[in-house]
Formats: sequence, structure tokens, C-alpha cells
Amino acid sequence: MEQQHELRIAVYPGSFDPVTRGHMDIIQRASRQFDRLVVAVLNNTSKNPLFTVEERKELLRQATQHIPNIEIDSFRDLLVNYMDYKQAHVIVRGIRSVTDFEYELQLASTNHKLNSEVETIFMMTNPKYSYLSSSVVKEIATFHGDVSDLVPPVVEVALRSKYRSKPAKA
Ligand code: ADP
Repeated sequence: MEQQHELRIAVYPGSFDPVTRGHMDIIQRASRQFDRLVVAVLNNTSKNPLFTVEERKELLRQATQHIPNIEIDSFRDLLVNYMDYKQAHVIVRGIRSVTDFEYELQLASTNHKLNSEVETIFMMTNPKYSYLSSSVVKEIATFHGDVSDLVPPVVEVALRSKYRSKPAKA
């Protein structure tokens, strides 16, 4: 009997407030390693985001239009529960620095403790983007600096209109 092929589904969770070229690099590389990659925006009420979850999802959708095996979603549950729901076994995270590593190790160990079937894999940043974070982008955009090399074009437009309505911080 022919063995049924099990889809290899991975989840790339994060805040994506907003998605940067660093995230895009990880998304592109991870999408080649799995049958399906779910990019999942964490709906975390304790942070004070610039973009709403819906806006972040829409920006991700537009920025990843050219990648066929991508799904954009959001979640507010424990990540391991969400993984079950998606029937996914792999969590993808990116690492830029030793500081990221410490935080990511703690996160991966916690998730492993909650469900040892779930595997976290790490992708090293493209050195071009090792300094790049959503916070850096927001900081530059607040003062109307050029972010065209840092974010996909749709995000650049969205940032411009956000900060047009919001004056730079005093
Ligand atoms: P979170 O709040 O979950 O850290 P982020 O949106 O900041 O969400 O990041 C999501 C994931 O993407 C994290 O694993 C982070 O380390 C990774 N990441 C962010 N920026 C980069 C980058 N420039 N290069 C590689 N990985 C990155």
C-alpha cells in the first residue's frame, strides 16, 4: 500500500509589527524547507503595537503574495496549542545575536516542556539584516527617515501614512 505523505507544516510566529526585510528573508528561506509555512501574528495584548493585528496580517499577505505555500494567520492561544490546531510540528524562529539566542533558548525550552513533539528550528539571520528589527524601523519612520532598504515597499507606504497622522514624538 502506498504510504500517505504527511504534509510538513511549519509555523513562523512573531509580532511582525511591522514585517521587515529580515523577517522576509527568513520567510523566503523557511518556505523552501516545508510544504507549508504558516506565518502567525501573535495577538499579544500586553504589547503596545503600532499596527493592529489585521493591519499586520494584511501587510504580510501583500508582501508574501509571490510565495505559493504561505498562509498568513494570527493566534492568541499558547503557541503549542495553536501548533496542534494547525497540525504543525515545527516552529521557525530567527536568530540575529547572542541576545536573541538566550531569549529564544528559553522560549524553545518552554515549548519543548509543554509539548516535546514540537521542534523549534532556528535560522541564522542573513548578515545583511543582523541589525534589523521592527523597533529600529519604527524609530527611523517616526522621524520620517528612509526605510526603503529595511522593509517591503507596502510596509514603507503603510508607515508613511501612519506617521503622517501621528506627529513625531516630542
Ligand atoms: P517577537 O516579538 O516574537 O520576537 P518579532 O516580530 O520581533 O517577534 O520577531 C519574530 C522572529 O523573527 C524572532 O524569532 C526574531 O528573532 C526573528 N527576527 C526578527 N528580525 C530578524 C532579522 N533581521 N533577521 C533574522 N531574524 C529576525
